[in-house]
Amino acid sequence: MYRVIAKYTENHHVRLVAVSKNQSKAAIMTLYDQGQRVFGENRVQELIEKYEAMPKDIEWHLIGHLQKNKVKYVASFVSMIHSVDSLELLQVIDQQAQKQQRVIPILLQFHIAQEETKFGLSIDECNDLLGHIVQNPLPNIKICGVMGMGSFTENKEQVRREFRLLKSYFDQLKSTYFSTDTHFKEISMGMSGDYEIAIAEGSTMIRVGSALF
Ligand SMILES: *Cc1c(COP(=O)(O)O)cnc(C)c1O
Repeated sequence: MYRVIAKYTENHHVRLVAVSKNQSKAAIMTLYDQGQRVFGENRVQELIEKYEAMPKDIEWHLIGHLQKNKVKYVASFVSMIHSVDSLELLQVIDQQAQKQQRVIPILLQFHIAQEETKFGLSIDECNDLLGHIVQNPLPNIKICGVMGMGSFTENKEQVRREFRLLKSYFDQLKSTYFSTDTHFKEISMGMSGDYEIAIAEGSTMIRVGSALF
């Protein structure tokens, strides 16, 4: 399936983050050998192990919940953190990035699904967070867009509504805070079961795991 999905995303000018959690290094290399260079992991420990063992031209994205005390372990190499959902976490990422003398690209994660357990900001919380950052800029992070996970359901119309909501949040934030900022352009949404809907609703980056491997 890798080639089919890679071609599909390329044709739609969308980036494919190959979610390699729970996958062996050999399985990752199979995709690498076919040209894939962007991989996503949802656990810090697994991310570090794979980063250390795999070719250095891989871009590693952290897509899962991140605890503040673990930021220091990934700050030197992570290419993007998709799962930022608090001001405190953003401040820690900025501090750790500063120590590494780099700027870390991040996405703001929204809660768009019906499930209670998923992490993420509401639009009000996000406005508070960005209001604070406008007053107190964080020079070592770059806010590149938004991320969300649709509900785990067979109801495609519900998932479509959730993706549409995330796109509307992106548009609001873009016009309020980032109208002149060319970095704020990413909408990370869509997984194995719903990436086609996500792309139709404006995704710029899909995070696909099980369907690829
Ligand atoms: C596991 C995971 C994915 C990929 O899920 P699949 O259904 O295997 O495609 C995407 N995003 C996040 C945050 C994940 O944890």
